[in-house]
Amino acid sequence: MYLVEHFYSIQGEGKYSGTPSLFFRFGGCNMKCEGFGCREKAQDGVSVLGCDTVYAVNKEHFSHSWVLVEQREELLNVLENYELPNAVDIVLTGGEPLIYANDEIFVSFLEELVQRGHQVTFETNGSLSVDFEKYPVYKECIFALSVKLSNSLEPLSKRVRGDIIYSITSNAKDAFFKFSIDAESITLGLEDEINEIIMHSPKTKVYCMPVGGTKEEVESNSEPLIEFCKEKGYNFSDRLHIRVWDSNKGV
Ligand code: SF4
Repeated sequence: MYLVEHFYSIQGEGKYSGTPSLFFRFGGCNMKCEGFGCREKAQDGVSVLGCDTVYAVNKEHFSHSWVLVEQREELLNVLENYELPNAVDIVLTGGEPLIYANDEIFVSFLEELVQRGHQVTFETNGSLSVDFEKYPVYKECIFALSVKLSNSLEPLSKRVRGDIIYSITSNAKDAFFKFSIDAESITLGLEDEINEIIMHSPKTKVYCMPVGGTKEEVESNSEPLIEFCKEKGYNFSDRLHIRVWDSNKGV
């Protein structure tokens, strides 16, 4: 299991936006999402194409800076070293944190967090199954489901797994959909794509947030997206961390 970074900030997106949270970013993902067109230069000089967290996705070019975790205490020590308010929220993100869903160290870490009273939220692409019966601790967790749209360029059968969406939304303590949307996609049949995903759990709330890795991009996509949300009855979610810290990482 690889940990890419950790930082204490506020949750900037979705239902729990504004909540002080300790973020653990795990390395690796089951997708590439090259359609998002973000490029990052690796230490070996290669410009790697992917999403805005390509440095936490692409093992080949970035894992030299990831930390290999072999004991749950290594993760618990991170938490303890921060000396944070009691039972602060914990956000597990990536990459895709659920690639470690069956890892005994990962599950044991989760169990300890929940036992200590932390609220744990997964930021996931919602395409990997979670064994709620074998690991009941997942029933105590929250899932922010950022199911990928066609603009990710991942195949439909991989990015939209209705059985997994249904399983997570019916078993977890709380779950919500979270989509990143740019002004252009609103006019390009985006509604059908969203419907294709949310039909697997129609009662789960939908949060739409503006695409953008910079403050300028977020601002330019916000107004058209607010109009779209008003029309469809979805919730608009800002991206507070980008508005406040722009494109800086680890905040
Ligand atoms: S699923 Fe998420 S973390 Fe993985 S490549 Fe796509 S956008 Fe990046």
